[in-house]
Amino acid sequence: MKMNIIAIRCRRHNRGENPKSFRLLQIALDQGQKRAMRYLTEKDGNIVKGAWSYTSRPFAPGLYCFHCLNEGIREMIPVDLEDLRDLGLSDLPLVFQSAESFQAVTLVNSMINRYQDAIRNIQEFPARSASFDDNRIINGLNPELQHVLQKKVLPKGGKLYSFQAKAIEVALNGHDIIITTPTASGKSLAYILPVLEATLCSSDATALYISPLVALTEDQFEALTIFDESGTDWIRKGERFSIHRVCRTLVIGSRRVTIARYDGSVLPGDREEIRRRRPQYVLTTPDMLHMAMLRGAFDDRHWRYLLAGLRYIVIDEMHIYRGILGASFANLIRRLQRLCRLHGTNPQFLCASATMVDPIGTVERFIGRRPVGVDGSEDGVPQHKRMVVIWSSSVDDGQVYATSTHAKNVLLHLISERVRHIAFARSIGEINDIYRFTSAELREQGIDTPLIKPFMRELRPDEKRAIIRDLKDGRLHSVISTTALSMGIDIGSLSAAVIIGFPGSIAQFWQQAGRAGRAGEGVIILIADRNPLDQFFVQHPEVLFDLNAEPVYCNPDNPYIVRSHLLTAAREFPLSDEDFHLFGKAALDQIQTLTAEGLMTSDGMGRYELTESAKNLADTPFRSLTFAVPVKDQEKRLIVEVDAARAQRALHRHAHYQHIDRYYRVISCDLDWSRGRGEVVVQELEHPEYTTAAHVEIDISIIDCQIQRDDEHYVVGYGIVKCHTRVDGYYEVPLFSRNEPFKYRPLGRAAPPPLEYQTQAFWLLLSPKVLDAISPDEREAAMYSLAGALRLATSIEELCDLSDVEGVGMLHFQDVLRPMVMVYDTVPGGVGITEAAFRRLDRILLRAVQILEECPYCSKHPESRGCPYCVTARYGDEKTINRLAALEIIRNFQSSS
Ligand SMILES: [Zn+2]
Ligand SMILES: [Zn+2]
Repeated sequence: MKMNIIAIRCRRHNRGENPKSFRLLQIALDQGQKRAMRYLTEKDGNIVKGAWSYTSRPFAPGLYCFHCLNEGIREMIPVDLEDLRDLGLSDLPLVFQSAESFQAVTLVNSMINRYQDAIRNIQEFPARSASFDDNRIINGLNPELQHVLQKKVLPKGGKLYSFQAKAIEVALNGHDIIITTPTASGKSLAYILPVLEATLCSSDATALYISPLVALTEDQFEALTIFDESGTDWIRKGERFSIHRVCRTLVIGSRRVTIARYDGSVLPGDREEIRRRRPQYVLTTPDMLHMAMLRGAFDDRHWRYLLAGLRYIVIDEMHIYRGILGASFANLIRRLQRLCRLHGTNPQFLCASATMVDPIGTVERFIGRRPVGVDGSEDGVPQHKRMVVIWSSSVDDGQVYATSTHAKNVLLHLISERVRHIAFARSIGEINDIYRFTSAELREQGIDTPLIKPFMRELRPDEKRAIIRDLKDGRLHSVISTTALSMGIDIGSLSAAVIIGFPGSIAQFWQQAGRAGRAGEGVIILIADRNPLDQFFVQHPEVLFDLNAEPVYCNPDNPYIVRSHLLTAAREFPLSDEDFHLFGKAALDQIQTLTAEGLMTSDGMGRYELTESAKNLADTPFRSLTFAVPVKDQEKRLIVEVDAARAQRALHRHAHYQHIDRYYRVISCDLDWSRGRGEVVVQELEHPEYTTAAHVEIDISIIDCQIQRDDEHYVVGYGIVKCHTRVDGYYEVPLFSRNEPFKYRPLGRAAPPPLEYQTQAFWLLLSPKVLDAISPDEREAAMYSLAGALRLATSIEELCDLSDVEGVGMLHFQDVLRPMVMVYDTVPGGVGITEAAFRRLDRILLRAVQILEECPYCSKHPESRGCPYCVTARYGDEKTINRLAALEIIRNFQSSS
């Protein structure tokens, strides 16, 4: 007969009337005969196993009742080994290292012993101790705020880090600030305190918090509730009335302040109630501000009070706002500033960000004023010792393992070393593969504990909560996750973070890395993929470590974005002449176009309003351009909106399209650029085998050269260009094995219509002399390869996706008939990538030389004319590329300058 839980219930405590809770202690010996223990509890008639830990209690292996032990009765529950197996309790103890005692170097050495060939680089970051403020700033705050801060918020000893104190002082002196810190280092206190100081001291004062993620507004809301002294059990209140989940009145001493979340997750009825309660501190997302809040700026029942009293605008996670999102966000801030001016307020900006390049200059582009910078990593935030390991198989290994196989080996090694860890994978497919492979091998080793779990968006909320809780409690030792767990949420202390493939940005890399080494030392393992950017980091890890951050490129003057925000702004309040300078250099042109198109009318006195036909236009969603194509599933549910240029490349009739962590096949595709509309219907692929890469033919012309520098052998320029693009075929790019050549497929009549748009670009017009040494029939291939290398160099230096920029090279450009190479932003209007690159063109050129010289594949295969790792070749078509000739050109004109 199979055993069940009844057999191991304690006779004294778990049977009969008024049984006590089922709680047993299991003692067992591990492989090294060390004694370990774990707790067993019960849920719905099943045994719940706690985590193993070593124990010094001199008990014989077996089961003991916890209540009996408490009463001094040490009596084993009578079950034999066979019965334990039936109960699922015969697994050997796996005791994981505690975060506090974990030693990074021991783990790294054990990896080197076992996987020497795969480890390409090891970098150590020493520990840094904290520095604290002397309480001068705290003493200057409102006494009631001071009191609660020291009693409830700060750890014992009650001091602020010096960077927090510095930021608060600068804010209280009336300046805009940008605080940059590593993840989870207490930056929120630096802006919460000025906000509370203002709102507690005046009931008219208001503040606004903007974060790119709903999960973060939730986190902030809870962080503020810690200040509450009312003693209210908000969680219980929130279970009965949903309003308490999103709106609370905090009591601090004799004062009160009402705070509210107003984001997409708030129910419509609660939204109305929040507006009625007039919270002084409102936490929201840019999407909500864009769609709903600013429109109510002049309505007494909506947000007039908020703008009329606005003292602070807090912008969190500033580094997220790059590309299209950044351009749109900059224009949203312009609209917000205009409405504040109309209400007679001029709020300060308190911005916070992960470490980034030139934080002051970047924030200035967003808010139009120069903020004071406060750097938390230099000033106060403590850090344990961390080691980063870069792991990769070589590019030309005879045997190619999928990245997920490498990931599995790393996870198994971490488990065998008993190191608690998190792994970040890039897609659901990858997570499932790694989870399957790893747990299958664990089972073969006889380890059958639920110590490893996958975590992804698709899980039910209660499943997600359970995983986060188990991680925090130490019951779960290994989790494989999407990026969802890299921000904000507290998941306790882990010792290692495994990052599978470079996550696309350095800020994101450090955010994921920051999950390891909070309570003790940490090890971060980057498993490099086989794409050019990852392989570049394998060759040049110093780029990853030295930068520590990246430029946040952004083009607030993207004409397409400015146009859509001007339309929205005019809907909020008629525009006037004095508004135009606020919307940048593209504004005047756009106003004229909008007037000519009959969407705006002028009263001749400098006031512009929307016409009736413009009022009927649908609103533009915040995160895309006007010129966006909806991608829907077969039930016609919207999956994503894609800008036209990307749609042309990635969503043609035969495309396989990747969105975040899923793959889709295009079912129908209707694109009509001239009417500015289109729709694509897709179906999810359960077992995707390849993605598609479009083959694009490009005609390009310079329409506005904004900066030009002349040299004897070349002219470099930056400006606005017009692109005419045709997609006539595509390559099938296998997802798993990359050994076979990519298959080319012509699109024929299924080709999407050609597209024309303006964008930003930099270019080099060369003197024909630089080509003299190259044989005439190789010159075109040389120019083409040079463009490929410049494109890859731009993507590496600016840390953007390769698909965000495109390179073109030709022998006879336009009427000047000179050889030309150009790199342009592929997003219509441009997002500032090539603009930023132009400012550092010397570095881009050096990087291009390095890419061509040191290509990890070509330098070992002298017969290669170029490959995707150096000249980002037209796949498969060898004659059109020539790496060495490109290198010769670039050396020629470099030596001359
Ligand atoms: Zn008992
Ligand atoms: Zn190469």
